[in-house]
Amino acid sequence: MGLEAGSLNSVLATLPAKPGVYLFKGERGQVLYVGKAKSLRGRVRSYFQAGADLADRTRALVSQVRDLEFIVAPSEVDALILEGNLIKKHRPRFNVLLRDDKTYPYLRFSVQEPYPRLTVVRRVTRDGAAYFGPYTAAGAMRETLEYMQKLFPLATCAGPIDGKSPRPCVEYEIGRCLGPCCAQAYRGGYGEAARQARLFLEGRSKDLLSSLRSQMREAADALRFEEAAEIRDRLDRIEKVLAKQVVVSPTLEDQDVIGIAREGTAADIQVLYVRGGRLLGRREVFLADVGDRDDAALLSGLLPQIYREAAPAPKEVLVPVLPPDVPVLAEYLARNAGSPVRLFSPRRGRKRRLVQMAEENARAALSSRTQRGEAGKDLAKEVMGYLGLSRLPRRVEAFDVSNIHGAEAVGAMIVWEDDRPKKDEYLRFRIKTVSGADDFAMMEEIVARRYRKAVREESPLPDLVLIDGGKGQISSALCGMAAAGVAIPDVVGLAKARGEKEERIYFPGASEPLPLPADSPVTHFLMRVRDEVHRFAVSYHRGRREAEVRFSVLDKIPGIGAARKKRLFLRFGSVENIIKASEEDLVEQGGLPADVAARVRETLRRSPAGSTP
Ligand code: SF4
Repeated sequence: MGLEAGSLNSVLATLPAKPGVYLFKGERGQVLYVGKAKSLRGRVRSYFQAGADLADRTRALVSQVRDLEFIVAPSEVDALILEGNLIKKHRPRFNVLLRDDKTYPYLRFSVQEPYPRLTVVRRVTRDGAAYFGPYTAAGAMRETLEYMQKLFPLATCAGPIDGKSPRPCVEYEIGRCLGPCCAQAYRGGYGEAARQARLFLEGRSKDLLSSLRSQMREAADALRFEEAAEIRDRLDRIEKVLAKQVVVSPTLEDQDVIGIAREGTAADIQVLYVRGGRLLGRREVFLADVGDRDDAALLSGLLPQIYREAAPAPKEVLVPVLPPDVPVLAEYLARNAGSPVRLFSPRRGRKRRLVQMAEENARAALSSRTQRGEAGKDLAKEVMGYLGLSRLPRRVEAFDVSNIHGAEAVGAMIVWEDDRPKKDEYLRFRIKTVSGADDFAMMEEIVARRYRKAVREESPLPDLVLIDGGKGQISSALCGMAAAGVAIPDVVGLAKARGEKEERIYFPGASEPLPLPADSPVTHFLMRVRDEVHRFAVSYHRGRREAEVRFSVLDKIPGIGAARKKRLFLRFGSVENIIKASEEDLVEQGGLPADVAARVRETLRRSPAGSTP
């Protein structure tokens, strides 16, 4: 049953015929759906009109609505922005959500500063810097950063660049930086190097190469042969890097190209980032259930989410079909980008072929998912049969805790679905309620916290819970689930029995564990999942311990107060670099008195952080 007629009419009567956002709420006040409208009155009423021809999913939504809220916005574009914010906040069940809505790394080039530097960031802010990305493959980003550092002599440090440094660092010595931090050593030409680096990142390689060639000729004509040779070498290196990039368009245009593939209710969306005619990156969005939305409606809901908090769209976004609200979406993208953006669906020619390429990529990704899904299903059947589970373990959640004698205790949960880890759903926990080395109580706490969150967010529960441990840990996990008010029928533990080498499976209430056959796919699967959660918990624990050790070590050194600590961090950028710095560097670059520098060196050398490789 939907909203009661009386209360519905009274709310509908108050709706203004103005642009805005509406929120449909369910039984417990949870937000089920957030939508935007040109006219709130017209749009919201259309859901509740008797005899309205609604799609299945919409009908299901309407039947669950118990309350509604609305917010009037100055324009439809403002409503779109507000809608995006509210979707991000509430993650409503009936909206199409970008599941990969995690933060991808970008390269930030601080072109607004006198000496621009390249850094890796997770968030795009409108701060005048230029952003490149997102880099959805970590390897591609590292590779870009590496060759940028080899090709362009820009600063890589984090400290202030004011020419006041007594001497430049080793980057200068090896020719990787022009040394603007030290006025006496500075080689000049930083602005030009930064300009070239930007051209390269923007994919404007033709401009970059011709500018370098003319500089090389100029240097040679003026008999500055050493400089000409240096430029020639850089040209060579750049050409080699460019040769590896895929040229998808003979023109030098910048475009984002979107392709969609569908199979049943699943959809795969590929965004290709073409800059200067070269394919610089790609992002994939997979949606397991888009209901009965067509491609146009799908794009309408997804485009704001794709570009929200991401690098601005280029001048042109190519799409397979035009969404219904093109002018509003184009204005939204233009506001984000600070310049006009054209949303265009090409019917023929080179641009159409680009869209087809994106569609092909989407189809390939979708079919490989389907194949993986089939393989995962077969394995799940074997696991189900051997362990006697009540259902197919397509989604497994595994838990582990990590601490040393109770110190810096943490817990971790990982998700394994269709024989693959789902890293964007991993969770880490800092233990809050347990003091001392009580692993059982820690397990209870993290399991309870995880499933309270699942209940709150109405997220799916797993088919199988795998605990790293035996009987005691399983009982604790069950207590945690009971505290959260959930009951998951299949919970097992994986551990070695005392004094034995072989892994065994423990079941709640069973006195004897089940041996696992060596070399069976079931054993390999369970061990892979358990090892992954163990690795995740241990690496989190190690990270916390090291951070703790590092910060506290500096704090305990006499002569190091807040100001000196800050200066050291600004100068060296990280504790690792402070540990590596010589006593001389600590004095000259870190500004420490000699006796304090000696103490810092000695203390860090002896501390666990100092011995960290
Ligand atoms: S400290 Fe090193 S990297 Fe930073 S500006 Fe000076 S020479 Fe360049």
